[in-house]
Amino acid sequence: MHLPPRFFNKERICHTMIKGSFKWMKSLNRMIILNKIRTEGPISRASIAKQTKLTPPTVSKLVSELITSGLVLESEQGESVGGRKPTMLVIDNTRFHIIGLDVGTKMVRAVLVDLSGFMIDKIESPIPLSISKDSLVKLIERTISKLLHLHKDKEMIGIGIGMHGVVDVTSGISLYAPGLNLRDIPLKEALEKKFELLVKVDNDVRAMAFGEYWFSNGKKNDNMVIVNIGRGVGAGIVLNGKLFHGEHDLAGEIGHMTIDLHGRRCSCGNYGCWETLISGPAIGKEAQQRIEEGRETILKDMVAENGEKLDGEFVYKAAMAGDKVAQDILGKTGEYIGFGLTNLIHILNPTKIILGGGVAHAEPFILPKIKETIAVKALTKQAKETEILCSKQGVFATAIGAAALVLGEIFEGDFPVGEES
Ligand SMILES: [Zn+2]
Repeated sequence: MHLPPRFFNKERICHTMIKGSFKWMKSLNRMIILNKIRTEGPISRASIAKQTKLTPPTVSKLVSELITSGLVLESEQGESVGGRKPTMLVIDNTRFHIIGLDVGTKMVRAVLVDLSGFMIDKIESPIPLSISKDSLVKLIERTISKLLHLHKDKEMIGIGIGMHGVVDVTSGISLYAPGLNLRDIPLKEALEKKFELLVKVDNDVRAMAFGEYWFSNGKKNDNMVIVNIGRGVGAGIVLNGKLFHGEHDLAGEIGHMTIDLHGRRCSCGNYGCWETLISGPAIGKEAQQRIEEGRETILKDMVAENGEKLDGEFVYKAAMAGDKVAQDILGKTGEYIGFGLTNLIHILNPTKIILGGGVAHAEPFILPKIKETIAVKALTKQAKETEILCSKQGVFATAIGAAALVLGEIFEGDFPVGEES
């Protein structure tokens, strides 16, 4: 690794450093410059000094350090405003690499990306049924080792994990992974020990949200929400460019806000949660009910042929084939999604909401209804026009987002960079 040890040596990631201290200020200035280059590069030293109000000698010194670290590169010459053309600075996206993992209920998906989020490689490891904590950690380790082995020539700076369920972000412990029925898995500790790299762990939907924010360079979207609608429903919230976790890492559990007081019972024990109306299984139940009511639909034949329980995907396929009942179910789902998103808009007033997960694939059938509902229900003209879109990232969105967690740590400096002499 060519980075000075102060950058990534985990021994020095000390969260107790006092923010007002001189050492912190020096590190903070470097973070400010690094982020200026990230969000506005190519940019000259003079522009950085002007925009950050740091003195030109300070900028010069810190830029030299960043160039030595390998994170920043001098690129083409900029436009001259009389005199010598300034040298422009950019982030060197290709030098360092990160491994991102999505630990779901059936599969561990892993990617190797560069600093721009470009996916260089990807692998999947199926999770066997009823796995123990130790075996899961071993499986994750093997998956990472495989990628490291395939890319021995690349410089790694960290590993990000998007873990389903409840995660203690500070300690990197998976507190509860309901899909695997496991508790208290010390992922960060185990993986840092094994690989001697910086490891960040967060909930999977938050990881996905942060990836959408970071790699789409969410400068204009500092307040955005990703709502993942699949088997369950959850949200990742980015406020002022940072993931919002809440007091006990519970923020974003919006699948369990009550939408229908007299609705179906939810897995959480309450009635009429948003999840019971819009998740993949909820769409399946709705379809089942229409069949029982004797409605004319090809869904009936699909069940007969496949012998499986209906889920959102069946309904989507039927809708694509022109089935009116299926299209109607998805339209209704869009309306319910619109109700929930209107609540979200009124609470957070985000710049943008992105929908991810399997249900978002039904975009042509749900998105018009979602927008229509918000246009009717939201309070102000701006609220009615909140940008809503469906994620274009594929099944590796969470893994890529997990890699972004590492970048957030390095670039955004909740990460005091150790002592400087
Ligand atoms: Zn619930």
